[in-house]
Amino acid sequence: MKIKIGLLYGGKSAEHKVSMQTALAVTKAIDYEKFEIHPIYISEDGQWIKGPQLNSPAENVAALEFSSSALSLGTAGSSPAILNSNSEEERLDVIFPLLHGPNGEDGTVQGMLELLNLPYVGNGVLASAAGMDKVIMKNIFAQAGLNQVDYVSFIRSEWEKQQEVSYQQVETNIGYPCFVKPANLGSSVGISKCTNRSELEEAFKEAFQFDRKIIVEQGVTAREIEIGVLGNDEAECSVPGEIVPKKAFYDYKAKYEDGDTGLIIPAEISEAQYIELQELAKKAYKALDCSGLVRADFFLTAKGEFLINEVNTMPGFTPFSMFPLMWKHTGVEYPQLIERLVQLAIDRHEKKQ
Ligand code: ATP
Ligand code: MG
Ligand code: MG
Ligand code: MG
Repeated sequence: MKIKIGLLYGGKSAEHKVSMQTALAVTKAIDYEKFEIHPIYISEDGQWIKGPQLNSPAENVAALEFSSSALSLGTAGSSPAILNSNSEEERLDVIFPLLHGPNGEDGTVQGMLELLNLPYVGNGVLASAAGMDKVIMKNIFAQAGLNQVDYVSFIRSEWEKQQEVSYQQVETNIGYPCFVKPANLGSSVGISKCTNRSELEEAFKEAFQFDRKIIVEQGVTAREIEIGVLGNDEAECSVPGEIVPKKAFYDYKAKYEDGDTGLIIPAEISEAQYIELQELAKKAYKALDCSGLVRADFFLTAKGEFLINEVNTMPGFTPFSMFPLMWKHTGVEYPQLIERLVQLAIDRHEKKQ
């Protein structure tokens, strides 16, 4: 019997396009002797559309969007309820939520899958939600004793009432340069680096377009070192990778459009640093109670100190993304990585019962 994977992608999120690319790559990598793919597309306005079963790779992203002709096949639905099948035959074995950002990576979809009692790849409700909110995540890391940059956070309504006070708070507690980010997002969307007051004001406006909560962090000059973690209760780490942005920072364009950001895998760090990095990544994994996978992102300062920047509970997952490339260099090829994740999802579900 083939394992039926419900591939959930697209999503009502600023990272919709990234998810589409990933979904395409997954349909190309999967072993159709072992798996069946049941595509479930979520449009940018939040419609859920179940497409026809895939027995071979999708040709392109457009094919995954199920144009209106696919809708007329009679398999379309418009809400998450399409996953709730009572018939044994139609029941999916595991869901792969290849969704980044809010409404997908943040615990909402995971909560729904819990209620439907369906196994799913990746992090559970708590880790997904805590990992999506950079303020909550950093508070948890602080409590776990992980070193990180200083940060402050603001709610839109507070800022609207007292803008000057907000800016002064940043200047007193954080200073320049600083990074202003929407609290709940990824792929560098809405993030700005600021070196003065006028940039700070612009950055607040920009970030508040994406979220009602923002975080302002001290900007560091440091190497960017990332590491992949896989597992449930027992986590394993990949080799480290380094990002070498060719611009002011690793922004959305550098990530997905320019393609000229250097990824160095394995990152050149000492054996002792690699051991320390693995310990820190596992500590972060445990602190958030992660499962399945994360990509943990660190800064390595000139003094040789690791500062955790964040974990991503559903990291970029095309074959050219950091997470799969780090695992490839660790000896786990892309198709095997997908199989490992599916297996971890099924194991986790069984242990919960
Ligand atoms: P993703 O989820 O795609 O990794 P993200 O939207 O969660 O991205 P961050 O990883 O927090 O955003 O930041 C994006 C990039 O901005 C970092 O890779 C780094 O280049 C730069 N950056 C972020 N915070 C800081 C900081 N405090 N100091 C220096 N550079 C930073
Ligand atoms: Mg992130
Ligand atoms: Mg992310
Ligand atoms: Mg990051």
